[in-house]
Amino acid sequence: MRLTPARKLVLNLFKGNSSLLCAEDIEKLLKNESIYLSTIYRALEYFEKENVLGKSTINKTAYYYLINGEHHHFMICTNCLARFPIDCEIENMINKNTKRHKFTATSHDLTIYGYCNNCVNLQNN
Ligand SMILES: [Zn+2]
Ligand SMILES: [Zn+2]
Repeated sequence: MRLTPARKLVLNLFKGNSSLLCAEDIEKLLKNESIYLSTIYRALEYFEKENVLGKSTINKTAYYYLINGEHHHFMICTNCLARFPIDCEIENMINKNTKRHKFTATSHDLTIYGYCNNCVNLQNN
């Protein structure tokens, strides 16, 4: 992994932060570093490709979070962005379908969107 100064700044934000960040959040957090938004986008894409960051799209915005190469799926609250890890139990489904279509799977994606317990109560009141 090649860490340019800009990439290092972006990555450090995730290391001290368990929440999800979008490019605009990062721009705000790094406003004193004079980094272009396009540089932030490229850094995020790079870290996603390197399996350092995971990505989920919420309300049409791409949010990123630290995964450090681990295989993770999450349930994400679309109201407060709280996230909860879930075990990957879809290998069987993948094997069944790849066999049937003679398809070679290289990766997969799964995010469950909804409301956490706090937010679902707010919606009901
Ligand atoms: Zn919530
Ligand atoms: Zn999985």
